[in-house]
Amino acid sequence: MISRIDLRHGLPEDLRDVLPRAELDVEAALEKVRPICEDVHHRGAAAVRELTARFDGVAVESTRVPREALTEALESLDPRVRAALEESIRRARLVHRDQRRTDTTTQVVPGGTVTERWVPVDRVGLYVPGGRAVYPSSVVMNVVPAQEAGVRSLAVSSPAQKEFGGLPHPTILAACELLGVDEVYNAGGAQAVAMFAYGTEECEPVRMVTGPGNIWVTAAKRLLKGRIGIDSEAGPTEVAVLADGTADAVFVASDLISQAEHDVIAAAVLITDSEELADQVGKELAVQVEATKHGERIKEALAGRQSGIVLVKDLDDAVEVADAYAAEHLEIHTADAAAVAARISNAGAIFVGAYAPVSLGDYLAGSNHVLPTGGCACHSGGLSVQTFLRGIHVIDYTREALADSALHVTVLADAEDLPAHGAAIRARFDWNVPQ
Ligand code: NAD
Repeated sequence: MISRIDLRHGLPEDLRDVLPRAELDVEAALEKVRPICEDVHHRGAAAVRELTARFDGVAVESTRVPREALTEALESLDPRVRAALEESIRRARLVHRDQRRTDTTTQVVPGGTVTERWVPVDRVGLYVPGGRAVYPSSVVMNVVPAQEAGVRSLAVSSPAQKEFGGLPHPTILAACELLGVDEVYNAGGAQAVAMFAYGTEECEPVRMVTGPGNIWVTAAKRLLKGRIGIDSEAGPTEVAVLADGTADAVFVASDLISQAEHDVIAAAVLITDSEELADQVGKELAVQVEATKHGERIKEALAGRQSGIVLVKDLDDAVEVADAYAAEHLEIHTADAAAVAARISNAGAIFVGAYAPVSLGDYLAGSNHVLPTGGCACHSGGLSVQTFLRGIHVIDYTREALADSALHVTVLADAEDLPAHGAAIRARFDWNVPQ
């Protein structure tokens, strides 16, 4: 069911090329989403509604979810789901509140300071997926950091669901209500990102769009980046498990399956120096998949080229492979898991030991589950308060401090052949200003 890559003879130079990974052609998807985005740009809400009919199979009268639908969704929410969401929000707030930045002022020279002021993005659009699965947890993961960053205005969009009369899934609406978000749209895919970026007669444009999604959402974010800010590309989910012979094969197999459940192109990768564990996990996968609800989807994900078991000769090589892979989620199941975790540089989130499974992080750990995929974890981090903040430098120099700096500025200006830069300094002191 799951393929094997044997690297016990040593790691190749082109390690990233031999590791399992989905062939996700976002560049090709760009060509498909470009006309969608242009249509929304030119025709606004009418285009969004038509695209909803085409891609989500439901005719909607408005892209805006009425206020009463949010209240009703929370009133009808299963009390156990409500309690779990409330605890998820509480824990996420604890972690994200601690991420807030304080302004810093640095005295550079006597009379010269630079202050870094952290200012939230004014208005953001938060995307919550709703194609194959619905993700009320992604409402929490998007909204909590934006609120803790102090974003003034935030809107949520999630695909219209045919079985709920063209509204997003009621649990998503209930999560919005719990978090105090009353601006919610029933748009999905590229058209939702374009609606946020360009604005329509039913939705004010936003400055930034964040949130996970499928290839169409990812491509639209990439296409419209610049017009809007975006977070990292958080596409089809991935888990890598780095394990040695001490790992419990039942735990490892169940965690691989838990992420494969997201999507047929979700990735589940085991990196181990123990052939015995690899064999046991292979057997466990076969047993557990048969007993799970979304077995067909999971089988397809495990059999895909994005999933596999990578055999290495020792834990040093395992760490190197994990860093080269740069998984969205990396679990460590080794004798000294914390020490191995400390050696990892590239991962969206690291789960240490047998009792920190990735599904805890999906819902309740307090950490954020909107994380970089496709190897982007080697240069980007997950969604956080920082995503929604901009650092503005405030430069304050006295006349004397500028006079003391003048020589260096003019020398550098001349070295760049931009003499007017130096002249702008000299003009303030009645010094020789060149014509
Ligand atoms: P989605 O909401 O991202 O996409 C559904 C939308 O795609 C639909 O509303 C439709 O408008 C559009 N669409 C469907 N087919 C299309 C087509 N042929 N052309 C253009 N548009 C089309 O929901 P999804 O599909 O379930 O995907 C969610 C993804 O998000 C999964 O891959 C999941 O693994 C991932 N995810 C990632 C993270 C993360 O942090 N990386 C977290 C949660 C979920």
